[in-house]
Amino acid sequence: MSSEVETLKAKLNAFLRIAKNNEAKQRNFQEYELALLSCSDLYHLISIILEQHREKFHLTEVTLLLFDPEYEFQRILSSRSLPPSWQGRLLFSDSVNEVRQQFNIPRKVKLALYTANKYQALFPNYSSSNGSVAILPLIRQNKIIGSVNLASRQTDRFQPGIGTQFLQHLSAIISAAIENTRLQESIKQLGLRDPLTGINNRRFFDQRVEEEVSLAQRNKTSLSCLFIDLDHFKRINDNYGHQAGDLVLKESSKIFDDIMRSSDVLARYGGEEFVILLANTSAKAAYEIAERIRQRIEMTEFAISATESLQVTLSIGLSVLDSDNLINTTQQLINAADQAVYVAKESGRNQVYHAS
Ligand code: GH3
Ligand code: MG
Ligand code: MG
Repeated sequence: MSSEVETLKAKLNAFLRIAKNNEAKQRNFQEYELALLSCSDLYHLISIILEQHREKFHLTEVTLLLFDPEYEFQRILSSRSLPPSWQGRLLFSDSVNEVRQQFNIPRKVKLALYTANKYQALFPNYSSSNGSVAILPLIRQNKIIGSVNLASRQTDRFQPGIGTQFLQHLSAIISAAIENTRLQESIKQLGLRDPLTGINNRRFFDQRVEEEVSLAQRNKTSLSCLFIDLDHFKRINDNYGHQAGDLVLKESSKIFDDIMRSSDVLARYGGEEFVILLANTSAKAAYEIAERIRQRIEMTEFAISATESLQVTLSIGLSVLDSDNLINTTQQLINAADQAVYVAKESGRNQVYHAS
């Protein structure tokens, strides 16, 4: 009798252990889910998927493939330098078929044995010749946008036929988290962009100029600033209508963008005023760039209708922050450029003036 009780007790304890273990697993997973869904930044989300996921679920390799034909994700990430550990683990594709062909049943998790010829492209860094894989589809509005790819050296980890409910759930959560960060990133972008010209707005500039000034002070490099103001712009609106004015603003900002180097910062400062920051650029080099902008605009025929075109000019004020100069702060840099435009206007417009 007492031995029967002992057996029952032991069984009960075993059940309790399993239940506790399941509860811990459940809690662990819920925490992970919450971390994914509360992420508002794509970079951070990818680091959770690529780094934390592998550790949490004891996997050999985790990779992320994103279908990104318009470079939307790549553009969001371009402001960050990506860790070397993401090499071969964050993958982009511009072919939807390449992504689709990973799945036997559309939008369903796929489990399979690892073979190099089939799965090397998804796991470029995976060094074992066997093992098993799970391919989780990522979906946005019923369309495939990529996959999260899990690999384990254990061949029985992801066997066809085992329940995929948990992985299917995980794939829905990651899909939602990616879509959430993508939307948040585009909202952030909208707040920093000028809707008419598509270039950075004043808010973006105000943040960025502080960073550039600190960088130049720290590295003792020079930072040049161009204030650009279109000449007699009010007349364009008065004579041709504000739509013609809008067109000139849009086309001009394309020309500025075209002349600048990728490290330079362009923003619409206000109505018909633009600003360009040239990092690590001396007064002489900045003057040459300003002069090139002035000439390009002067030469341009802005086609405002099928039959009509017009010409405009602009005035540019240049100021330079460098270590042996009286201009040391953001405020001084901006004031000096602003003053310089004023002088360029007073001296007859269509010219560059350097406030030295
Ligand atoms: P100046 O050579 O002294 O700079 O003369 P200006 O006419 O360019 O300067 P002013 O500041 O008197 O006028 C700027 C004009 O720019 C007035 C405003 O209507 C126009 N403007 C500002 N923003 C926009 C815009 O988004 N679209 C259009 N079409 N016009 C704009
Ligand atoms: Mg103005
Ligand atoms: Mg003006």
